[in-house]
Amino acid sequence: MKTPIPDYLNEVLSTLREDTTGATASYIPELAEANPDLFALAVTTGTGSTYSAGDVDTEFSIQSISKPFAYAAAIMDRGIDRVLESIGVEPSGEAFNELSLEGGTHRPKNPMINAGAIATHGLLVGERADPEARVARTLSMFSQLAGRELRIDESVCASELATADRNLATAHMLRSYGILTSDPHEVVAGYTRQCSILVTVADLSMMAATLANGGVQPRTHERVIDTDVARQVMAVMATAGMYDGAGDWLTRVGIPAKSGVAGGLVGVLPDQVGIGGFSPRLDEHGNSQRARRAFERLSADMGLHLFAPSHGRLEVVGVQRESSREVFTLQGNVQFTAAAELLDLMADSTSLSEVHVDMSRVHSFTDVARRMTLEGLRRLRMDGRRIFINDPLQSLANPDLGDGTYPERS
Ligand code: GLN
Repeated sequence: MKTPIPDYLNEVLSTLREDTTGATASYIPELAEANPDLFALAVTTGTGSTYSAGDVDTEFSIQSISKPFAYAAAIMDRGIDRVLESIGVEPSGEAFNELSLEGGTHRPKNPMINAGAIATHGLLVGERADPEARVARTLSMFSQLAGRELRIDESVCASELATADRNLATAHMLRSYGILTSDPHEVVAGYTRQCSILVTVADLSMMAATLANGGVQPRTHERVIDTDVARQVMAVMATAGMYDGAGDWLTRVGIPAKSGVAGGLVGVLPDQVGIGGFSPRLDEHGNSQRARRAFERLSADMGLHLFAPSHGRLEVVGVQRESSREVFTLQGNVQFTAAAELLDLMADSTSLSEVHVDMSRVHSFTDVARRMTLEGLRRLRMDGRRIFINDPLQSLANPDLGDGTYPERS
């Protein structure tokens, strides 16, 4: 059998493909020219399995999705106290390019709006750092997060710099208040290069999965971000990531997220998954219309909401193969990640005639994990296997195998 997760992602893409509302970013000429029909989605679990669908090989500039990760780098380089001196953590409730400065301190309200992100870039590495070193810091950190060598799209960068009046005005204003201490032109040039780093949806989902893991890259097992810094970044994404729509987004969808004007969208669920989406047409807030709707679907279908009870995360999956049977064991509170792992194990399944699933030590299933487990059993059944379960709590409820038969008792 094949794991059903990519099929599910493809289904989400195909239902949303007909949505052609919105338009590509008009204020950056290179982005205005992008193919508006591109659409891709990727999910990476905390254990480093990536599932993706659509235009997964397309690279696009990261744009504002760079902001939370650069913020993490700035805190690691300068310490949280120094960063908080220059940039607040209050949602602005305003558009991304609004010059929202706090009364009194003149700090940008948060690091997710351009004013805060420009100030963040100016803090990277050290007080009198070389402008190139700041760009290099973001490029190497983002590459570590993605688990591959990323590069900068120089033509997107040049195109944005040619029309960067608003960001330059913002940087000059920050300098006049002493928030920025370096040359505003240099900082805007560096920030724009940071925004021009090319990523795919899988890169975004991997970067987010690293945050979800508290800063440890799920595939390389490298600690890229300190735990308390990851927590700070996710909290700011939750309250300010979606700009003027942040409250509506957090309550309804509940996936701390950050969008970019090239059409990218990244989402993170602590301890569970990182999600990447991409489609270039933007809504009136500058968020990708289709990627936003895809996240709404994932939240609704999979119960992926920050405040959906996850009952802790003691979940264990294993497989044993003996004579004619293959025994899959599930234990604890089974949610998306564990179910995804189970499906991967089932996809690698041999052709032993009997498939047993031992759920005797399962405390609970989230709805999506239950449906995923059942779908795995159905597919194995379609491959002609005999299915047995040990499910004393009847966690699988009504385990119809799709052909009118039910699992036998293990
Ligand atoms: N580079 C873009 C800018 O500064 C990023 C904005 C965004 O993606 N929302 O305008």
